Amino acid sequence: MTRSGRVVVTPAPAESGLTADRSLHYRTCPLCEATCGLEVTVEGDAVVRIRGDRDDVFSHGFICPKGSTLTHLHEDPDRLRAPLVKRDGRHVEVSWDDAYAEVERLLVPVLEEHGREAVAIYHGNPSVHNHAATIYARALIQAMATPNLYSAGTVDQMPRHASSGFLYGDPLAFPLPDLDRTDYLLMLGANPYESNGSLATAPDFPGRLRAIRERGGRLVVVDPRRTRTAKAADEHLMIRPGSDAAWLAALAQVLFDEGLVDTGPAGEHLDGVDEVRRVVQPFTPEAVERATWIAPEVTRRIARELAAAPTAAVYGRIGTNTVPFGTLASWLTDVVTALTGNLDRPGGMMWAHPAHLAPRRPGPGRGFDIGRRSTRVSGYPEVYGQFPVAALPEEILTPGPGRIRALVTVAGNPARSIPDSTRTETALAALDVMISVDPYLNETTRHADVVLPPPSALQRSHYDLAFYGQSVRSIANYSPRLFEPEGPAEEDIVARLCLIASGLGAAGDPQLIHDMVLDSVLRSAVAPGRPLEGRDVAELRAQLGDRSPADRVLEALLRSGWAGDHFGASPEGLTIEKLETNPHGIDLGALTPQLPGLLRTTSGRIELAAPRLVGDVARLVRWLDEVSDGPVLVSRRHVRSNNSWMHNVEVLVKGKERCTLQVHPSDAKAWGLADGGRARITSAAGSVVAPVEVTDEIARSVVCLPHGWGHDAPGTQLRVASRRPGVNTNVLTDGSILDPLSGNGVLNGIPVEVAPADAGGAETRSASGTA
Ligand code: SF4
Repeated sequence: MTRSGRVVVTPAPAESGLTADRSLHYRTCPLCEATCGLEVTVEGDAVVRIRGDRDDVFSHGFICPKGSTLTHLHEDPDRLRAPLVKRDGRHVEVSWDDAYAEVERLLVPVLEEHGREAVAIYHGNPSVHNHAATIYARALIQAMATPNLYSAGTVDQMPRHASSGFLYGDPLAFPLPDLDRTDYLLMLGANPYESNGSLATAPDFPGRLRAIRERGGRLVVVDPRRTRTAKAADEHLMIRPGSDAAWLAALAQVLFDEGLVDTGPAGEHLDGVDEVRRVVQPFTPEAVERATWIAPEVTRRIARELAAAPTAAVYGRIGTNTVPFGTLASWLTDVVTALTGNLDRPGGMMWAHPAHLAPRRPGPGRGFDIGRRSTRVSGYPEVYGQFPVAALPEEILTPGPGRIRALVTVAGNPARSIPDSTRTETALAALDVMISVDPYLNETTRHADVVLPPPSALQRSHYDLAFYGQSVRSIANYSPRLFEPEGPAEEDIVARLCLIASGLGAAGDPQLIHDMVLDSVLRSAVAPGRPLEGRDVAELRAQLGDRSPADRVLEALLRSGWAGDHFGASPEGLTIEKLETNPHGIDLGALTPQLPGLLRTTSGRIELAAPRLVGDVARLVRWLDEVSDGPVLVSRRHVRSNNSWMHNVEVLVKGKERCTLQVHPSDAKAWGLADGGRARITSAAGSVVAPVEVTDEIARSVVCLPHGWGHDAPGTQLRVASRRPGVNTNVLTDGSILDPLSGNGVLNGIPVEVAPADAGGAETRSASGTA
């Protein structure tokens, strides 16, 4: 018996072996940033096969083990099909009307009695893999009218947003490695052989790395672990976790010191080069050697290679961002890129050019800064509209005016993804009200009063609105939904929450919210200087197809973007219909230079020595002397895992235990650990016990646990995951240590003690009480 539901799209079979009852469908995988094309074979109302779409214009058939599991997720008996409401401590299924009524009953009194500051919103990572959730996020924020916005971004990439904001005036304007044309890629803290890439959308990232070497280029990987990516490189440098900023500053110092600076085509838009020269002077290769573990002659050689390469890209990712100097490291990747003339240049670091964005007019912008507001308890500055999610627990647990009493989570699992899980779970349990939009009863949503499940990925249309905004080629690919959902569309769920929060009531008409969201996009499209300037919003609205509310907004974005048909004014341009007739996607080409039009700083120039960035360098200088040599914990990713939410798929978690503590043989010997034994890992925040994996693929004095595990909490409904719970690494991370410029949590380089676990080590504390 199938759980798929009725197929809503059945194209005429065009390939041999297909029958009237067997059809092929093409869609983009929404599970990670790579946006691979999938070929989905449906028989009757069941998916019988998913494989890579060989004709996809971007991925050319590449697929990772997760891509073929979309149907497992869709058919997972633990995936919620109906809303849940907590009654007497247990979640029970209710109708959608009853669920919305319960949200209203619980949420409205908090808003009325304690004000908007008493409510917070948390958006998890899957939100950005879903255009309905992405589009309607702003509507939810506006309806709640709360300053308390949190997301997984502050345990991930917020340093990249902050540094891009300071440098270019736009926190979304982070440059990408031009993988397909570069001659030299210096990659720090990234492992795309497992992650498939991040903040650089490039399906078959490993294949693109191999191609660099095949065309005579060079790949250098900097990482404290000899990852699969590092093994595939020309050179691997084992660096101390958290020291990337210091090492990048040393590269810049060498470039200045040896007269190798040539800012290339971006040079005419650069301010602050001399100031950067001044602030990196303390970071000589010798001065950073102890802190980074990289020999001075290697640092000098890499700097010279970068300067000499015909083109080069410097790409830093999660390992460089989730550390105390995350924003400085992100800034310094761009500094080294700029000093070697590789910014905004084919083969260097370039900016994405997503089809749905309208062209920008050159000239000064409004600039970027942090701290328009501060958190109530610790006074952390707002960054890019958000507060650090690491501060959420104290905002819930600390009494006083403005205490967060109600939380709305959308597609997130902060109980496993943010620092100090023990305190986080205590905080979630202390909320007066918690509402979750989520398909699973997981470690977070088990605390929710109401859980509202959105459709599965096969039950919604898909367009990678977020990730085409960081793609190494300009691509447009739209996937219609495959199956009818059991319940409302995600935008309808969020619209109901908006109605409740706006005082219009759960029984209000969601179309009010849909109209508001659409008109906001159309009004922006006809604003002065935009391609549709002066056009009539009502006339444009009337031209949109009879589609779901989120798809009507998507259509408006696409048709008004630089590649769009401009509502008939550019007939060859993109529409959703055109994408529907091109199910393998449309390739709009390689990246092209975008300076100076992209800049939104108040000066209209690249502010390479932005005062906030330069002002934080003294902290990095001090750290060179303060760094201690004790063991530190880092995190890791596996290609079969996706943060915390895909461990309920049997085919992905079966086989050998993957949630192990990796330890170097010398450390294992010194600490009395044996391969296959158990170790107790203790930090300032907590302690866990994990199985030991002794391997020389990790640096000495570094131990490594994968993140996203710890599925042993009562009250969840994750039957596969709970049989292999793994160890929650965020029991060990400390919510009080942040990167000050971005508010990003520190998830790597955590000082720990490691010892053999006692025979009774299983009682060691974890987020849910016992490990
Ligand atoms: S690499 Fe990412 S997008 Fe591609 S199949 Fe795997 S999970 Fe899906």
